[in-house]
Amino acid sequence: MIMFSGILVGLALLLTFSHANSRLKREIGLQARSSMSGLVFLIIHILFCILLFYLVFADESLYSGLWLAPTFLPTLQNSFPNLLWVVLVTDSVLKLITVECKAIVAVLPATTLPYAKRGKVFLAIEATSQLYRAILPVQPWLYYLVNSYEGAYRVLGFTLASVYFLCKFWELLARFKMWHLSCSQLFKHSPLGEAPTEQQLAAAGNMCTICHDEFSDPVALQVCGHVFCESCLTTWCDREQSCPLCRAKVGTDPAWRDGSTSFFLQLF
Ligand SMILES: [Zn+2]
Ligand SMILES: [Zn+2]
Repeated sequence: MIMFSGILVGLALLLTFSHANSRLKREIGLQARSSMSGLVFLIIHILFCILLFYLVFADESLYSGLWLAPTFLPTLQNSFPNLLWVVLVTDSVLKLITVECKAIVAVLPATTLPYAKRGKVFLAIEATSQLYRAILPVQPWLYYLVNSYEGAYRVLGFTLASVYFLCKFWELLARFKMWHLSCSQLFKHSPLGEAPTEQQLAAAGNMCTICHDEFSDPVALQVCGHVFCESCLTTWCDREQSCPLCRAKVGTDPAWRDGSTSFFLQLF
């Protein structure tokens, strides 16, 4: 299955992902100023790449590896390069699907999903993707380890499969915890500050320094007392972990709330 063309296809998928990932992160950062046509083009482009890939490898039914029912396992012929290739390209396609889901969220109108809520949605999509991507290689790897040894060496195969399963268990546990946390935060309102006093509002000149407009639902940061609109501050904290005015530390780790997708290669 794997040939020079296989390596080229794998690289093309990774390059497409890298481009789509940075493009989407930039557009999400622009919020209301993002290019709608650019985002729609990105969605079509990703869809086209995935369909083209599975059409080229239709004979091997590689697409079945996307939903835990890989029918192509016997065609890997217990070859290690074939196993690695199939795991890597499936992972790359799943990363593209993750970017696609986030791009669809990004084209939703602000009336349907406010910008301040999107960070949590992007995090939940990423956590779901990372959990699913950690589960998918289990079948091909166990199949390979159990079937590629013959005779007395079968014991070695089963031992390696047990070691693999043990390592995988801890990885899956960590990914599940992240997924569970992201989902529980999805519908929870956790304010970044408290209601400002009259003096704090007057000191801020009744104007938010992020949107340069009058405050809407103002909140004052506990650590420094600076006041911002709640939605402005939430979207700011999806990217930064500091007060926009004085750089005091605020909020929690913004990882994956900016719409980016992990480059991590899920090899096993
Ligand atoms: Zn504002
Ligand atoms: Zn401050």
